[in-house]
Amino acid sequence: MTGTREHTPPATDARTAASAAAFLEGQEITTTGCGRCGTEISGVNGRYACGNCGWVNHWSEGHTELPAYDPVGDVPVGDLPAGEHPRA
Ligand SMILES: [Zn+2]
Repeated sequence: MTGTREHTPPATDARTAASAAAFLEGQEITTTGCGRCGTEISGVNGRYACGNCGWVNHWSEGHTELPAYDPVGDVPVGDLPAGEHPRA
């Protein structure tokens, strides 16, 4: 261990940071009991995934609208480092 964080991507530009902050501002951490095993789990805006048994609730149970599918988008996916591509 050298103490350096070689796998941490470099700080992003201010515009990226601002859009991330704006996104996070609309998120709410919520808690529920897992629908399968009963473990208390936390999620975002009413959407949950249980780390204990793998249960996930249906997307329609979330408290907010999901963003519409946009095949073009404004995220320069090609500029992201390998392994950092957002999941579709
Ligand atoms: Zn569970």
